[in-house]
Amino acid sequence: MLQRTPCCDQAIYSTNFVTPLWPDEPEARRGRIAMLSAHTCPLAMLGGRKTGGMNVYVRELSRELGRRGWAVDIFTHAESLTRPIVIQMARNVRVVHVVAGPVKHIGRYELYRYLPEFAKNILDFADSEGIAYNLIHSHYWLSGLVAQRLREAWGIPFVQMFHTLGALKNQVAETDADRERAVRIESEARLMHLADSIVAATPLDKHHMVEHYRANPAKIRVIPCGVNLKLFRPLSRTEARRELGLRADHHVLLYVGRIEPLKGLDTLFHAVARLMARRPEWRARTELIVVGGGTAPSAEGWTEEMARLRHLRHQLGLHDVVIFLGAQDQETLPYFYAAADAVVMPSHYESFGLVALEAMACGTPVVASRVGGLTHTVVDGVTGFLVPPKSPNALASRLERLLEDAALRRRMGQNGIRRARQFGWPAVADRVERLYRRLQSQNVVLQESSL
Ligand code: UDP
Repeated sequence: MLQRTPCCDQAIYSTNFVTPLWPDEPEARRGRIAMLSAHTCPLAMLGGRKTGGMNVYVRELSRELGRRGWAVDIFTHAESLTRPIVIQMARNVRVVHVVAGPVKHIGRYELYRYLPEFAKNILDFADSEGIAYNLIHSHYWLSGLVAQRLREAWGIPFVQMFHTLGALKNQVAETDADRERAVRIESEARLMHLADSIVAATPLDKHHMVEHYRANPAKIRVIPCGVNLKLFRPLSRTEARRELGLRADHHVLLYVGRIEPLKGLDTLFHAVARLMARRPEWRARTELIVVGGGTAPSAEGWTEEMARLRHLRHQLGLHDVVIFLGAQDQETLPYFYAAADAVVMPSHYESFGLVALEAMACGTPVVASRVGGLTHTVVDGVTGFLVPPKSPNALASRLERLLEDAALRRRMGQNGIRRARQFGWPAVADRVERLYRRLQSQNVVLQESSL
């Protein structure tokens, strides 16, 4: 089995703010971006309860902008005393750990209380470094609230991306613990009006903002999320299986993602149990690999949800079928995607679904719930199948259909590769840059007219 490696292996640590670490750093910068990711660090290990698509988005977009000559500082809450305050993450891109409240991991609603301190410390940082940012790009509602304060102080535009919407999550929440609090919904509603521009990942995401928050559609730009096409590329299934120690003649289903109730893993377990009942001859040669979360109560990423799912596996008699592998480093994921016959995303809500795109880029069909961004990412009957959420029977039927037809899997895999090609990060960054330039020029006009 491939081994995990720490996610920030390649980061170059530095506390030097001024000297460029990259000798070929362009002299004439395109502009300075304050990228806000208050509650989660782009260098964090992925696949924990709260670390997933947004971390990847902030990291990959910033890298691509840095490559193009934008100077990007990503501000995130400091959670460790041993980690340097400033880490040079890539060319022209730094991660700045902002001390606000306790220096340890704290919940999102606790961090909310420290946002004024978080914003003040960013202002002090910029002052002490003599930095004038041109634009703020904030991610998630918590960062949006910080952006609002920074904009007041700096008089520059801010772009907001929500990644998920509280109102949508509440529509599918099954318990009080899963419900998002009023302060989130109210903050999101306020930010819809305050932000200079909002990025939606799909047309449906935009529609939700208009419908649930009365956002002004003219302010919203639809820019899809991206996939790293150099990393997520088609690989030989045989070699990938050999590398991972998986049998060539087995049916391999794969789940990759955070372990939380909204991801719908219980629906998938019930579907696999039904599939095993329908096709008992497959039992000894079928595996469902679950990538994400921790593997033992003492391990990082072990959550109540993980414990619940282990119990459900036991109740459904699937201990010989479902394998919990824990979170894996992104560099190893292409092997998992390539080795799988199908990647399954049984989510109850998904604003985009990067995993679907990554799997498609590796040439693997995706069977996903017909919810949110997945309806846009996965083309039903072409790159995989869409099924109603929370419907084990429908999911089992689609999995059975795919597992018994190698030609169909190959065709859908090829279609997925072609579709994923449109979603490279350079294409995403082109559109984000266009938005930045438009906002910058509007801001100049505004400032001139107020003179
Ligand atoms: N991921 C990872 N290792 C894991 C689990 C997930 O690197 O063990 C990454 C995965 O490659 C993807 C992201 O986490 O880029 C999950 O993004 P997605 O949009 O599918 O879900 P979200 O976290 O936004 O709900």
